[in-house]
Amino acid sequence: MADGPLTSSNDPLGERLESLRRQLPATTHLLAVSKGQPSMRMRAAVALGLRSFGESRQQEASLKKQELADLEPLDWHFIGRLQANKSRAVLRQFGTIHSLDSWSLAERLQRIAAEEDLCPAVFLQVKLRPDPGKTGFDPQELLQLGPRLGQLEPLRPMGLMTIAPLGLPPPERLALFQDCAALATELGLKELSMGMSNDWREAVAAGSTWLRLGSALFGARSTAQP
Ligand SMILES: *Cc1c(COP(=O)(O)O)cnc(C)c1O
Repeated sequence: MADGPLTSSNDPLGERLESLRRQLPATTHLLAVSKGQPSMRMRAAVALGLRSFGESRQQEASLKKQELADLEPLDWHFIGRLQANKSRAVLRQFGTIHSLDSWSLAERLQRIAAEEDLCPAVFLQVKLRPDPGKTGFDPQELLQLGPRLGQLEPLRPMGLMTIAPLGLPPPERLALFQDCAALATELGLKELSMGMSNDWREAVAAGSTWLRLGSALFGARSTAQP
């Protein structure tokens, strides 16, 4: 492929992407986490064939959506902590939500999605290890909810999402991701949103279907992010 003006040879994005694609199974989706990156970087990623972008702030994403309005519609995924009062704005903006972390939020999203005539894909965020900085369903709670997860229409539950606690050694990360995969199987959910820049190899080994990669793709973020 010829280098376009947005993928000059001193931008490592193309090389990083190519190297990742060589290492990933064909079934693994790459979610380009663009939070903290200017929309020009997203443009470059689109030129390289990426379409799915992860953002953790609704307002930041809204601004970028305007800046990229001349492109074919992109596939926007919300990956940040979802505050209840942002539900409607997030539903209008994002086709997929990875951070559905409580039953009360599920019911709220269900109600608002119905009002807005939307049918977003959702991932249930699960907390498999103690982690003071993170939210998520308790695995037992999800198992108890069981069949009710199938009654969330118009939400479309796709799978589970998890974040490994910082500082967990790689073998324990692998075990955590395997636990997540086993829980998804038990719940009859197919997709697994797991793996970030520092642990995507373990996530792939455990069967991740959506890697959420920011810095491994774009390099360091230009603005501080939660
Ligand atoms: C920021 C973020 C990512 C990407 O992080 P990197 O380490 O840059 O790959 C993935 N998932 C979530 C939930 C995030 O907040």
